[in-house]
Amino acid sequence: MDSLYLGSHLPLNAPEYYLGTVKLALEWGENTFMFYTGAPQNTRRAPTSTLRIGEGRALLKENGIDETKIVVHAPYIINLGNKNNVDTYELAKSFLSQELKRVHDFGCKLLVLHPGSSVGAPEEFGLESIIEGLNEVLDNDSSDVTICLETMAGKGSELGRTFQQLATIINGVHKNERLGVCLDTCHINDYGYDVHDVDGVLDEFDKVIGLSRLKVIHVNDSKNPRASHKDRHDNLGYGTIGFDTLNAWVHNPRLNGIPKVLETPYVDNGGKEKVPPYKKEIEMLRDENFVESWREEL
Ligand code: FE
Ligand code: FE
Ligand code: ZN
Repeated sequence: MDSLYLGSHLPLNAPEYYLGTVKLALEWGENTFMFYTGAPQNTRRAPTSTLRIGEGRALLKENGIDETKIVVHAPYIINLGNKNNVDTYELAKSFLSQELKRVHDFGCKLLVLHPGSSVGAPEEFGLESIIEGLNEVLDNDSSDVTICLETMAGKGSELGRTFQQLATIINGVHKNERLGVCLDTCHINDYGYDVHDVDGVLDEFDKVIGLSRLKVIHVNDSKNPRASHKDRHDNLGYGTIGFDTLNAWVHNPRLNGIPKVLETPYVDNGGKEKVPPYKKEIEMLRDENFVESWREEL
């Protein structure tokens, strides 16, 4: 069995919805992928019954794709990081609860969530807000979806920027068997970890959180240097991380079986629309071979 699960962020668009998402994954050589169940920046959500999930799942099955490796990303309007912002906080909890049900409707098991931003409040208060919010949501949810807290770049007062913060959240949640972590290579670099020392980072992760919590890897190059606290993704081999290091993450034996998802930018090649880079990036990672100036030739 192929234990390398590699894919990208994919759209979920009318008219084919999930069927179209799965078709795109197959076209681009992906055996896993990630999607939003609706627009990431607003709360309008079409009922899952209209999203052609049955047809999408049938096509997955036909192609032997393991649904337990497919990832949903929670909308980034969810912010559990400051319980004093009552409206935002209540919306975050109800939206996250609803999203868990939607993930379940797709037959998926992994939901990536940005832990939240304390919006200027102290770190401890932010972490406490996140813990309380997750407890309320998970205590009232009976699905088997794992919430994967994403490692963040540390823009503004973003939380989840250190492994220690993630461990604090996990330790504070009652049903923490429902929590995992999504490690984003661009984000850990931008926060300040030495992304080139893959085994060193994994040792640190194991010591602080426990490697068994690691459920998803986001494979992104970064437009900015280490510790810039920026969070701008770049295409493989065009950023400050480089192809060799990203390839080392993808093929590290300790990360066998963990889904790896690209969130690199579409490429502007002067045409009318930007071009998705994923088919080429996935091919290079599978071959473990960087093609010089691949982006110029898309
Ligand atoms: Fe994310
Ligand atoms: Fe990410
Ligand atoms: Zn990012």
